Amino acid sequence: MREHQLDELRQELDEINLKLLKLLNDRAALAKRIGEVKQKQGINKFDPERERAMLETIVKHNDGPFTDDTVRYLFKQIFKASLDLQQTSQKKTLLVSREKQAADTVVDIKGTLVGAVKPQVVAGPCSVESEEQVFEVARALKEQGIELMRGGAFKPRTSPYDFQGLGEEGLKIMRKAADEFGLKVISEIVNPADIEMAEQYVDVIQIGARNMQNFELLKAAGAARTPVLLKRGLSATIEEFLFAAEYILSGGNSQVILCERGIRTYERATRNTLDISAVPILKNESHLPVLVDITHSTGRRDILLPCARAALAAGADGIMLEVHPNPAVALSDAKQQIDIPTFDTFIKNLRASRLLDEKPA
Ligand code: PEP
Ligand code: MN
Repeated sequence: MREHQLDELRQELDEINLKLLKLLNDRAALAKRIGEVKQKQGINKFDPERERAMLETIVKHNDGPFTDDTVRYLFKQIFKASLDLQQTSQKKTLLVSREKQAADTVVDIKGTLVGAVKPQVVAGPCSVESEEQVFEVARALKEQGIELMRGGAFKPRTSPYDFQGLGEEGLKIMRKAADEFGLKVISEIVNPADIEMAEQYVDVIQIGARNMQNFELLKAAGAARTPVLLKRGLSATIEEFLFAAEYILSGGNSQVILCERGIRTYERATRNTLDISAVPILKNESHLPVLVDITHSTGRRDILLPCARAALAAGADGIMLEVHPNPAVALSDAKQQIDIPTFDTFIKNLRASRLLDEKPA
């Protein structure tokens, strides 16, 4: 009977399907183990040479009825699925990932918590210029109940002829002002050799956008025990940003704050393009706290408030902005810093929107 024959053939096919499934999963388990060995040895997961050699051997043994091209196509799909499996399991092992640690990391800056229930504001001048300047800003921060003061002493400037910062002298000024007003100091370090010196003065080491992939600096920050604020590179993808943070965590320093600061796009209406979607993506993919630098991302004073609101509404753990007693004469970023009365109004308006309140549980 024809029908009976069809049933029999189908039954045979069903059995082969199950055998294939078993073989595919055995192969996948083996590929996963190979991925783990590669991970340990720091070898790239994708090995085109090995793939080509495997395909050649397979095709050599192909007796049909599938054509060689079809066999190549089918096996390429299997290889791709195995590679995806290796990469997903690698992602899971990243120290920065949510899969690795479900609970939010809270960075404790001598009692000021970033990534806990209360969003934080980091404010201060672009560059440390004088004691008088920093003290004026520190006083303004204190009056507004802001605990984290920023200020650059080592400035990575586009032109070598622009003000390069006061160096260690600048860090001393920051420390003195912070101690006077009970604030914490965040300052950028550009040279791995300066980290130890900087730790005498700063509470958080900032790694700037231009140095996000300065791997020696990342390793040195990983070896330090001072919290690190890592800014997203000028054209860095979110994945590259997280790998940069991974360098610090894998070095043993778990106290890392991520900072979205805008990326390069074709748009010229703003200095950089604030990638607001990076905030929820980073919060989903990583347990690290996320800040948004509304000054460097926009380069514009007139849209600071809506951008701050957007950042906090998107789930940021705080914002960063530049404040200077007299922006017109600032030695760097004169066009984008805000003066103290504007800062006072900004903070009052932001507080009025309740976005700086403790987040609901
Ligand atoms: C800064 O915050 O001082 C700075 C230079 O910013 P970025 O590294 O994001 O350009
Ligand atoms: Mn600046």
